[in-house]
Formats: sequence, structure tokens, C-alpha cells
Amino acid sequence: MPHVALVALTGIRVVDPVLRALGLTLPGLRRRGEAIAMLPALGLLTVAAHTPDHWTQSFHEADAVSPDLVDAITAHSPRLVAISALTASIEEAYALSDALRRRGIATVIGGLHATALPDEVLQHADAVVIGDGETAWADVLKAAEPNELHGQFQGRAFNLDKSRLPRWDLLPPGKRRRYTVQTARGCPLACEFCAASRLLGPFREKSASCVRRELEAIKAIDPRAVIELADDNTFAGERDPTSLLDALKTAGLPWFTECDRRIADQAELCRAMVDAGCAQVLVGIESPVREYAGMGPKGATLTHMRESVERIQEQGLPVNACFVIGADGETHDSLDALEAMLETWPSADVQMTLQTPFPGTALRRRLEGRLLEDRSWRHHNLFELTYRPSRLTVEDLRARFQNLVRAVYSKQQTQRRMQLRKSVMRSPLIMQE
Ligand code: SF4
Repeated sequence: MPHVALVALTGIRVVDPVLRALGLTLPGLRRRGEAIAMLPALGLLTVAAHTPDHWTQSFHEADAVSPDLVDAITAHSPRLVAISALTASIEEAYALSDALRRRGIATVIGGLHATALPDEVLQHADAVVIGDGETAWADVLKAAEPNELHGQFQGRAFNLDKSRLPRWDLLPPGKRRRYTVQTARGCPLACEFCAASRLLGPFREKSASCVRRELEAIKAIDPRAVIELADDNTFAGERDPTSLLDALKTAGLPWFTECDRRIADQAELCRAMVDAGCAQVLVGIESPVREYAGMGPKGATLTHMRESVERIQEQGLPVNACFVIGADGETHDSLDALEAMLETWPSADVQMTLQTPFPGTALRRRLEGRLLEDRSWRHHNLFELTYRPSRLTVEDLRARFQNLVRAVYSKQQTQRRMQLRKSVMRSPLIMQE
């Protein structure tokens, strides 16, 4: 029987030694990093469910490429190794793929980065999947079985209602984990910096009955599972959310998701999310100095954003407010103002990243000519500067960002937000977490 090894390169990657040290010492940062590292690779486990029965499969996740990892994969004598990686881990994916190919094993790489830059991927892998993996997977396997795999495999927009249950059984046993469920793919908006909204195809939603089935399967594995909705912008479509929320409520598991600030205008939706077990919603505040192209109706002044956060939390739903630092127009004054504002910012949590021009985005096209030549893909990790800012030097913005991270994730500010979170949250499910 042919064997396919599925390899996920997981975890957060930070190259800058100062930020690495901060990540180890600041409790707020460490907590977020650990939560992300625990998320299983939904894309690979989903294509695994679409693998024909005559193939055997193994799943490997690693936060670094090592000879041990190569040996562990090779031990299965795979006919094919499928690797998923984000931009920040794509160089490691290439190193792994190169090592496997030197041993005569065929490889394929997919995901957002691969979709944006398929020719680059083909310098390191036998094949690349562009777009949705589910619709390309059968052709990849058909070519790999007689050892004829090469070139580009174009996935068509997948109908999410045809999703099969992800192969959770392939995960290493024994660890209590966060599980991911996707209720929609893409986003109806198109923020300039966002790679997720359109690259894999148009915005699509999964029916509530399919979501219900996935939640039931997870609950059967772990009755105390915590769910992260792997959506780019839940509830951004026009469908009535009642059935989806009912599926989530019936599952009785705490869940996290991402929405845009417009949910603040729907108090009933926010209350229903709490009632269905939503433990926290991530809301993009984005840049305090620039309204990006493509933000459409979610764009708002900082004052309006702050009011939106307060209105969402008034309904008992804690908000993780996500700021992007370093947009054109950022100055020492704007960063001073932001730092002062964040001392009393009302959200239960804060996420702060540097503007990052990911491949395939309109932002990268706009910043072409200002990209720093010595920053390879591993620096595109949301925490490191990869372009020349418009009104600050590279050194100044880097240092100011590091100081902001220190201030925002300090013990005092982390504790202040934990208290805020306790005072906001109302769901009984969240209290058990
Ligand atoms: S709202 Fe969020 S998911 Fe949608 S395009 Fe903007 S950043 Fe991307």
C-alpha cells in the first residue's frame, strides 16, 4: 500500500533575538504563543479525510526541521510527503522537502504561500497545490502513486458542505488540545494587508449541519475540548446565524473566533454568541494611523473602534483587539499616543503585530521597492520589520515596536486585562475553562 506522510510545521517563529527573549519572559505573549502552537493543522487533517482507502497515512507536526524529523518521516517509506507551512515557516518547509527529495521521496507543498508563489515552491518540491487542497488532492495522489508527480495542481473552489470529518485520529494521542472547526472560508471584505480573504477563492460558508457534525466528533474525542473557529471573519456573510449558533450551543464547548467590528451593531448576535459559549472574539482594530484600502464598512475612526469594543463587551463577550503597527504615517508621536492609550484601553486582551507584506497581498505590491532585501520569508512572522517605513527609520520603528510589546504584555498590563476579562465574561461555559 502506498503511504502519504502529512507534515505540519507549527508554532510561532521569531528570528529577532530581542523579541525571542520577550516571548519567553512576558506572560501575555507566552500564553498566546502556546495557544497557537496547540492548534492542529486543519488543512492537512482535512485532505487526509479525502485520501482513498488504499493509501496509509501518518501525521507529523514539528516546530523545527531536524534530522530526527526527516528520519521519522522516512521510516514510513512514504510514496509522498505533503507539507503545509505558512510564510514564516516556508524556508523550513523547503529545507525539509530538499532533504526528503535527496532521499528519493516525492514532496508536495500547499497553503497560502504556495498559492501566491507556486514557481518558488517548485524549486524545492516536486509539486505545488494552488488554492483549495481538497479539490486538487485526488489528482496529486493519482500522480504520486506511479511516481509521476510534478508541477502545479490547481484546486477549484471547494464546496464546504462536501467537507469530510477531519482525521483527528491521526493526531498524536494523549494530549488535551484545542481543536479547529471552519464555518466559512475567505472573507467578503478585502483589507489590503490580508492574504486570507481571497487567495484561496471566493467567500464561502459551511452549513450549520456540517459544523454540528464536526463539533459532535470533537466532543466524542474530548468532552472538554476548546474550539477555535478557523474562520477569517465569522458572521461576515449574510446568512442568518441562528442555526450555526444553535450548533455551537448544543456542542456545549467554549469557542474562540474572529469577527470585524460591525458585530458591535448587533447586540442580539453578541448575546447569542455568549449564550452559545463564545469565550472571546478577536476584532481587528488594524492601524491607528491609516485606513487600509479594502476595509470597506469595517473601517472606522479609533474612537469608533473603541466604542465598538465597549459595546461588544457590554453584551458579555470579551474582545481581543488586534492592532497593526507601522503603517504609512506612523511617527514617534503616533506611537507615543498609542502607548498612552493602551494603558487604559478597554478590551480584555490585546494583540499587537507589525504590518507585514505577505506574498499575494495588495500591500506587498504597494510596498514593492521598499522591501528590505536582507529579510527573507522567515522574518515575515508579524513581529519583525520587513520594509522601510514612510516616516520612521527601520531602527526606530523596530525599537519602538519592541518597547510597545514590553509595555502591552507587561505583568501589570496583562493582569489588568485579566481582571477586565473576568468582569466582562458572562458565559457559564467560559467559567469552567
Ligand atoms: S476583515 Fe479580516 S479576514 Fe476580512 S479581509 Fe479584512 S483582515 Fe482579512
